[in-house]
Amino acid sequence: MNCKYFKRRRKKGKVYYYCNILKKVITYEYCKCCGKKEYRQYKSIKQRTYKQEKKEKNRFSVFTKDLEHCIICGKTHINKHEIFFGRNRNNSIKHGFVIPLCEGEHHNQVGCTGIHFDTELCLEWQKKAQMYFEKNIGTREEFVSMFGTNYLSK
Ligand SMILES: [Zn+2]
Ligand SMILES: [Zn+2]
Repeated sequence: MNCKYFKRRRKKGKVYYYCNILKKVITYEYCKCCGKKEYRQYKSIKQRTYKQEKKEKNRFSVFTKDLEHCIICGKTHINKHEIFFGRNRNNSIKHGFVIPLCEGEHHNQVGCTGIHFDTELCLEWQKKAQMYFEKNIGTREEFVSMFGTNYLSK
């Protein structure tokens, strides 16, 4: 990786290197041996990814304690499906609106089977999750303001 003060510039079609600390044209070799070298900080991005990773690893389900087996057919090798996906994915994860599904029941792109292809099944679980929310977490208004839709009226 290059120093953050190392700039690649172009003048009349010729490429040269410029150092923003020394304020002068330098060579690539000069930069390599420079003691003032600093790198860009990618920390914040990394931390964010780490947080997201942790969240995903800790996914739980309010519908089952067994996240090893498909909640519909009991098969192993499951995917954790967020009942509200897309932009509501993190809210799903937060409240445990996650269910374990085998590939066939989740998102089988070859056979086009699974909850991502089955709007009825999808809605069924969204209704279950909303009912759970209204019983245990908050009001309908709070649900709708968080997830954007009243699934029970569909
Ligand atoms: Zn299954
Ligand atoms: Zn899914």
